[in-house]
Amino acid sequence: MERTITVSDIRKAAQEAYNEAKGVKGGANADYIPYLANIDPELFGLSITLTDGTSFNFGDTEYRFGIESVSKVPTAILAMIQHTPDGVLERIGADATGLPFNSIFAILLENDHPSTPLVNAGAIAACSMIAPQGATDDKWKAITDNITALCGSAPELIDELYESETATNFNNRAISWLLKNYGRIYDDVDISLDLYTRQCSLGITSAQLAVMGATIANRGLNPVTAKQVFDPAISAKITTMMASVGFYQHTGDWLYTSGIPAKTGVGGGVMGVMPGLFGIAAFAPPLDGAGNSVKAQTAIRLLMSKLDLGIFSGDKVSVVS
Ligand code: GLU
Repeated sequence: MERTITVSDIRKAAQEAYNEAKGVKGGANADYIPYLANIDPELFGLSITLTDGTSFNFGDTEYRFGIESVSKVPTAILAMIQHTPDGVLERIGADATGLPFNSIFAILLENDHPSTPLVNAGAIAACSMIAPQGATDDKWKAITDNITALCGSAPELIDELYESETATNFNNRAISWLLKNYGRIYDDVDISLDLYTRQCSLGITSAQLAVMGATIANRGLNPVTAKQVFDPAISAKITTMMASVGFYQHTGDWLYTSGIPAKTGVGGGVMGVMPGLFGIAAFAPPLDGAGNSVKAQTAIRLLMSKLDLGIFSGDKVSVVS
């Protein structure tokens, strides 16, 4: 069915979703990374950016929180820019693991068969693929420049978070060396792990993530800066990955109940992409048992249901002013 929704319908739905989700209780801050345990659990923001560049922001949308695993999305895009989507498929893969984000078991099960850049193992492998090889500073610049281009403004490293993660990332060290063992790390192991840890420690706002989502939804054209950040064909590839594994072992439940491909992070952020229409991001620190923000999930689900939108609805939806 062809239908239209108005910009003011979207603003109203977002405002209502924010108001209703604000009162939702439950969950707890991630505590395996000490910095995250101490963030104010009441913080909550909801941002939406349409593919025409219009943005709506409610609540704490300028607060810089740890991007964590949402950073896997831009670095997967950068790996695709540098090595093509097929190069990423060949070296990492595009399969859901069906297991938690930091699973070692998944690597053992699939040691001859890569998984996806949206879980820890694949994300560390993606960092190892970023050019130029062996040059930490230049690789780091490539990673952060790409995030800046996608958001239209720069992220900022949260030093305390980076130190906190570096001091406690024993599981990720095990993952990195196991990947090396199976020939799935394409640069120095320590450099690759450090880049992954650093990118997870970037501070980002929900307003910035909504623009990143909108850039993906807009086939690589950042609607705020009007710059083409990546080849339009990459858009469907990264959105497919988000749809298949963005919520780890709960991705099916998420897509079934929300209708929108999205990526979570243990910092409390969630970024969603509604192809052709908008990017959306929400942030609230308390997480459910799988490491996904309780309020952020609620807010995005509410907005999708208020607008009766879903990626598989079959509707041809256009936004009019
Ligand atoms: N830096 C975190 C880790 O590697 C990210 C996990 C996540 O956000 O899912 O454990």
